[in-house]
Amino acid sequence: MASPTARYRSEYRERHVPAGYMGWVHLFATTTVCVGIITWAVLLLDDVHPLEWLTLPIAFAIANLAEYLGHRHPMHRAMGPLKKMCLRHAGQHHRFFTHRAMCADDHRDFHIVLFPVLLLGFFMGGIALPLTLAAFFLFSVNVGALFAIVAAGYLATYEWLHLSYHLPEDSFLGRLPFMPQLRRHHLVHHDPGVMAKANFNITFPICDALFGTKARLTTDENAAASPRAESA
Ligand SMILES: [Zn+2]
Ligand SMILES: [Zn+2]
Repeated sequence: MASPTARYRSEYRERHVPAGYMGWVHLFATTTVCVGIITWAVLLLDDVHPLEWLTLPIAFAIANLAEYLGHRHPMHRAMGPLKKMCLRHAGQHHRFFTHRAMCADDHRDFHIVLFPVLLLGFFMGGIALPLTLAAFFLFSVNVGALFAIVAAGYLATYEWLHLSYHLPEDSFLGRLPFMPQLRRHHLVHHDPGVMAKANFNITFPICDALFGTKARLTTDENAAASPRAESA
């Protein structure tokens, strides 16, 4: 008999994934937009002052905090106009993938991993763009451009890393350095008993360490957690 996860996967694919959807095209489109923004911003840079380079670590810290807070709150709590984010993430992504069934079956399952166009537009236009413009007007063109480079680079990194956690461990992405630790961090977050409490960073678990929300699997859970166990 099919597991609840396998049943939900079939239901999700039938109800939400369009017939012509291609996951690799989705990933390519998102990456192209991010690379395009980075290229445009690099071309804007001119004679960067040593102090202006500080924008890179500061913007990275802001991005890591935004990822943490966005995931901890609107993605795991129904909050007014943002409640659709919670429905998609906690209600769909976490039902499709649990700590015992972490792998996508094929590229069409990227639909529930990668951000849809509307959400991507919200992150880019509603959050990154106003901050970039503020940096541009308050400081300089260089600071605004450096901020845009980090914002677009971080978003692309988020998408690639998150996707790699939901691909087989021996995939090209899964074999990259540091991947086992990062993957494990996200696997623990997919435990239904843990998901609303810990491991909210998807990329680098800096804010989880700072805010004391970093969790690991216990020895028993470790033995039981087989990413592919229920995916069939
Ligand atoms: Zn996930
Ligand atoms: Zn989550």
